[in-house]
Amino acid sequence: MRIGIDDTDSPAGMCTTYLGAVLIHRLKEAGISVTGQRLIRLNPNVIYKTRGNAAICIEAKGDTDAAFRIAAACIDELAEFDEEKTNPGLVVAETRLPVSFYLQAVTGFCTTEEAEAVCRAAGARVRKWKNGRGIIGATAACAAEQDDMTSEILAYRDPNDKGERTVDRESLFRAEEETFPHTWDTVDTANDCIVCFPHTPDPVIFGIRGESPEWVKKARSYVKSQEPVIEIIYRTNQGTDAHLLEGDIASLVDGCSYRLTGVVADTPETGRGGHVSFLITDPSGVVRCMAYEPTKGFRDIIRALAPGDEITICGSYKNGSINLEKLHVISCAEIIRQRPPLCPSCGKRMKSDGVNKGWKCRRCKTRAEEPEIIHEPRTVSPGWYEVPPSARRHLAKPLCRDVPPE
Ligand code: ATP
Repeated sequence: MRIGIDDTDSPAGMCTTYLGAVLIHRLKEAGISVTGQRLIRLNPNVIYKTRGNAAICIEAKGDTDAAFRIAAACIDELAEFDEEKTNPGLVVAETRLPVSFYLQAVTGFCTTEEAEAVCRAAGARVRKWKNGRGIIGATAACAAEQDDMTSEILAYRDPNDKGERTVDRESLFRAEEETFPHTWDTVDTANDCIVCFPHTPDPVIFGIRGESPEWVKKARSYVKSQEPVIEIIYRTNQGTDAHLLEGDIASLVDGCSYRLTGVVADTPETGRGGHVSFLITDPSGVVRCMAYEPTKGFRDIIRALAPGDEITICGSYKNGSINLEKLHVISCAEIIRQRPPLCPSCGKRMKSDGVNKGWKCRRCKTRAEEPEIIHEPRTVSPGWYEVPPSARRHLAKPLCRDVPPE
């Protein structure tokens, strides 16, 4: 069976992944064997999300009725019901749910009714709390299927402990040094900051992401922190670009994320707050791209783009512009400038002799018909560029996993 759960937390505490870890323990105690657990991120632009739009799915073998009862009791006990936006959902499915529902939930939008219809058709058991929106994520987590998966090890504290976390900073840098690129986003070396723990009052002490359970365990072995009450390794769609749709500019839908290829249409500008923007065009239209201030050094790459550069961009289309996650510079346009030529006799720069009349040396009276052509050196070269770990979305595939084909 697959047990899907979503929407149990609030900004004030709890985390659905922690509830999953507790539930696994209780299922095992009840004699239900747990064969796997998955942390599934869904469309990052969904407005109902508390933080990272995560849902979980536990794979188990045993008494379905008992599993349903234990899971429901766990949600009753641990979910943050006081928060208006917390609307838990539970799905227990004995047959596979259609992967198309997961794809819709990770790349687009779904309704509670659609999730219920999918569960009904598969004979899955469902329970909703409050408005029950959580069954969208719970259904999608059960339906999720994709070849490319990564891992995350999560260490938790007591959920009542809402103070500062105690994690040794140097040990996190060591973990990154010893295991990168097989693990990523533990720290942001370029910006000298820690990425792998939240600053919110939830039970996560830290989480380390990587290619496999073995790699995240290895990285974890370097980390010194307060004593966790539980640790768990989830298989996950994080870092896989599962949210990206192939598209052209005319087909962009607000709240969806895309990979699209086009040509830079104007000179990038730095606006208020340090946000950098430019226009990209393809045969179907033109759209603004944004690199916001938190993307730090990535903005220098954007500022170095020039009209005519051919690029592929990845990012979410929201409120009329694309928020960039990464970028492939396919080819750089030549930037050509003209200036008056040097006088071949005296070496002084000549002056214009009027519109379309060529150039003339004031001193020697020498004439020239052609200007001097300057090829401006480019400071960006073809290749892939990405936002730093501190600004990366959970689903975005880091370049260290493999540089996408040029
Ligand atoms: P949690 O740790 O509780 O899962 P979160 O940041 O992951 O926190 P949720 O609190 O789960 O966010 O809120 C997301 C809500 O949006 C859930 O009710 C989920 O079912 C719903 N949801 C997820 N994906 C979609 C989607 N593609 N379309 C519509 N609703 C969605």
